[in-house]
Amino acid sequence: MKILVPIKRVIDYNVKVRVRRDGGGVETAGVKMSMNPFDEIAVEEALRLREKGIASDIVVVSIGVPQAADTLRTALAMGADRAILVQSEESPEPLAVAKILKILVERENPDLVILGKQAIDDDMNATGQMLAGLLDWPQATFASRVEKTGDGLTVSREVDGGSETLSLTLPAIVTADLRLNEPRYASLPNIMKAKKKPLETLSAADLGIDLTRRLTTLSIAEPPTRKAGIKVGSVAELVEKLRNEAKVI
Ligand code: AMP
Repeated sequence: MKILVPIKRVIDYNVKVRVRRDGGGVETAGVKMSMNPFDEIAVEEALRLREKGIASDIVVVSIGVPQAADTLRTALAMGADRAILVQSEESPEPLAVAKILKILVERENPDLVILGKQAIDDDMNATGQMLAGLLDWPQATFASRVEKTGDGLTVSREVDGGSETLSLTLPAIVTADLRLNEPRYASLPNIMKAKKKPLETLSAADLGIDLTRRLTTLSIAEPPTRKAGIKVGSVAELVEKLRNEAKVI
């Protein structure tokens, strides 16, 4: 089985995101960038399927600026076999990403595409679903367990109030949720080995995909700062404040 894992380069999840002075976006200059955490989980799941003897070839792909090659190298160091970078000026919207991924799927013929459930920069949670729609493939989103059963997959997914189990035929799209697995760290020898693994570079324009943005950002604002809390001296004081100041009881 061949698996394609799309990975996005995003602001590292530990960085406190700041709005740019011109208000047109968030500050990325000099900011640490990393692989989207849900995509690390997707790569890890592909590696585990290979370790179980189910998958053979793992191809990672990223669409974005040339520096996304570093993110792809991280995935190669985790254990992916091959990488494809589709260069574009800025981070394209989910529909454009899904259209590019569709072209790569038609070229690479994977049996399974595992994406992150969402990219933590703009929280779209749309690319996997759009790709499944464009390809007309079955999809299981928010996966917390993936098993190969017969010719297809059995996927448990997180839903409100519990878990749902789906049976899918292949080829299929799966999007990874937080509880699917805990991604491994790349070891130093593997980081060195990853430098020699193949990384192909294409351009979005060569693939004939129109990257014109359809969404307009009206404004971006930092969340209001929270007021400092206070310590109360007794339960009676707490009840008094909840009743007369917060007016919640
Ligand atoms: P989103 O729909 O933007 O929240 O992203 C969901 C998933 O789609 C991500 O976790 C990635 O697996 C994939 N994805 C989104 N944007 C890109 C991109 N520019 N390059 C590669 N994969 C992407």
